[in-house]
Amino acid sequence: MIATLEQPVQTKPIVREVEGSVYCPFCTRTVAATLVAVGKRAKSKPGQKCPRCGSSLDAGYVVMPMRAA
Ligand SMILES: [Zn+2]
Repeated sequence: MIATLEQPVQTKPIVREVEGSVYCPFCTRTVAATLVAVGKRAKSKPGQKCPRCGSSLDAGYVVMPMRAA
């Protein structure tokens, strides 16, 4: 049996950017941020900063992604 790295093209998860809210752990507030929705999951878009305290929101907790389905 020969193992190959060949794989059929996998279905890529749909990545969308949506407006939502991210909880900033530094100023303990929920701020508006752009979210990156991957499939059914969402996370804060990398590189964003909290408009209040300027901290990176990369570690932010997504509170409630708006569903613009
Ligand atoms: Zn903040």
